[in-house]
Amino acid sequence: MRYGSDCSSVGTSCASGRAKPLPICAMSADFAEQVTQREHDDVLGAISSSAQAELQQVEAALRRLASGRYTTCAVCGEDIEPERLAAVPYTDRCRTCAEGGRRAAGRDGRG
Ligand SMILES: [Zn+2]
Repeated sequence: MRYGSDCSSVGTSCASGRAKPLPICAMSADFAEQVTQREHDDVLGAISSSAQAELQQVEAALRRLASGRYTTCAVCGEDIEPERLAAVPYTDRCRTCAEGGRRAAGRDGRG
């Protein structure tokens, strides 16, 4: 019984694998490790990219603040509602523009 030492947790695969019991166990341990590592990488990547997008918005808001246009809607030039700025401090659009603009008549599907 040479293959019994390391494979107690996956004993069924080892016991039933008559030909090569050892590679199965070695591979499954390695594979599980790789899968775990990959999941971590995916999560970190997702967090990082959404954080970067938010950071860019914040930096843009700081630039608007410095230039005195922080409360001005970048689309229509109207003032952005104070409540909206309180809720989304880095927004560059008034509520109307954020919800799709005030041109109710021209409804083309582009965009
Ligand atoms: Zn606007």
